[in-house]
Amino acid sequence: MRDTIFALATAPGRAAVAVVRVSGPDSRRALKALAGTASSPRYASLRTLRDPSSGERLDQALTLWFPGPESFTGEDQVELQLHGGRAVVDATLQALSHLGLRPADAGEFTRRAFENGKLDLLEAEGVADLIDAETQGQRRQALDQLTGALRGREVHWRGLLVQALGLLEASIDFPDEDVPGGVVDQARSTLTALQAELGAALVDDRGERVRDGFRVAILGRPNAGKSSLLNALARRDAAIVTPLAGTTRDIIEVALDIAGYRVTLGDTAGLRESCDAIEAEGMRRGKAWAKAAALRFFVVDASQEEAEPMLETADLLQAGDVVILNKMDQAKATVVKACQGEAATGGFEVVEASASLNAIDQVEALLKRVVVARLVGSEAPTVTRLRHREALGTALQQLERALAGGRPAELMAEDVRLISRSLARLSGRVGAEDVLDEVFASFCIGK
Ligand code: GDP
Repeated sequence: MRDTIFALATAPGRAAVAVVRVSGPDSRRALKALAGTASSPRYASLRTLRDPSSGERLDQALTLWFPGPESFTGEDQVELQLHGGRAVVDATLQALSHLGLRPADAGEFTRRAFENGKLDLLEAEGVADLIDAETQGQRRQALDQLTGALRGREVHWRGLLVQALGLLEASIDFPDEDVPGGVVDQARSTLTALQAELGAALVDDRGERVRDGFRVAILGRPNAGKSSLLNALARRDAAIVTPLAGTTRDIIEVALDIAGYRVTLGDTAGLRESCDAIEAEGMRRGKAWAKAAALRFFVVDASQEEAEPMLETADLLQAGDVVILNKMDQAKATVVKACQGEAATGGFEVVEASASLNAIDQVEALLKRVVVARLVGSEAPTVTRLRHREALGTALQQLERALAGGRPAELMAEDVRLISRSLARLSGRVGAEDVLDEVFASFCIGK
């Protein structure tokens, strides 16, 4: 018999309504002890809740009774919709505790739903991501995951593996008779198709960029106007958090909502030769951050007296990155021209700005265009977390081994079973307890 657990499911603090959830075999007994009678399944009933030990009235609340298995967790469940005052919630939680129920751990309701087959691990992660979603892009992606977009793909891939395994086993069991020629070749071509699909899923980084934020690094020499640009972009209504110091004192991160996607701007330490050990470390971290970013803005001071090779410090830049000609209000034509030439050679787009005057329309338009082009797609991405990337990466390696020249059918069949296990880790049908612990620990209490 499992424990019966309870938790406040809504955010703590004063509110109009607070929801307390109870799940486990004692749910119905607890409801009767508090409310006098249990309500009809899945109907809301208005009840006076009383402390079972003293008989004192605690609240007038809406009560809901969900008999298992037709509940979120798959167990008997009760939901109490209380008046959302701190004292009401405290008294109700205490009464449940006195009835012998146990406060839930973080993610325990969802974990029970997973263990009872109500959700797979991908869908459970979708629940967590939906709760954490701050932008519409994150919300859409989490909802796709919650409603089985990724699971559908896993099912399709496992179907291909079953097909390949059937062919391989036929060739093993009936080496000479009854089997049409070329079955191993057919298995190979099925596996090759799978290889292409897994490869494409791994190349697609939209899922992680949407979930974790589309990172844009702001690079450039000291005084080019990097901080001014960050401030100008963040001052707009788009900012969803105030500027906060990043992991190091030298990277300032600001999260923006651009076209419904979370964009994290990172202002890095100015790039220049330095003998100072702390500044050098700041630059090292800034470079690492910039390298992992989805896009880099290289800010150039267009007001300098002389044109100098402006991009020489920009060994981090990749094709598709952007040069921002800043201080255009005091621009020197020669500098602008030289910089445009360099940018064209490197394959970088150029936009103009006067950051300290908040004249950054071109930068904003470009950012929006790039974010939409890079993140919006007709199909939901498969990989939204490192966990998925690792499972698919392992499957792909095993697949490459299976397809290596001269591999006998027996060994290929064994490879296919291993690939199947690797893919099953995605939905958590196969997996170590510690993976489950890690996934569910990231949930909040009451979920
Ligand atoms: P950072 O070291 O690259 O972060 O550069 P800052 O943003 O601190 O700017 C350095 C100096 O340039 C400051 O005095 C800013 O006011 C000035 N500045 C920044 N952007 C502009 C601009 O568009 N026009 C002008 N005239 N000055 C600017």
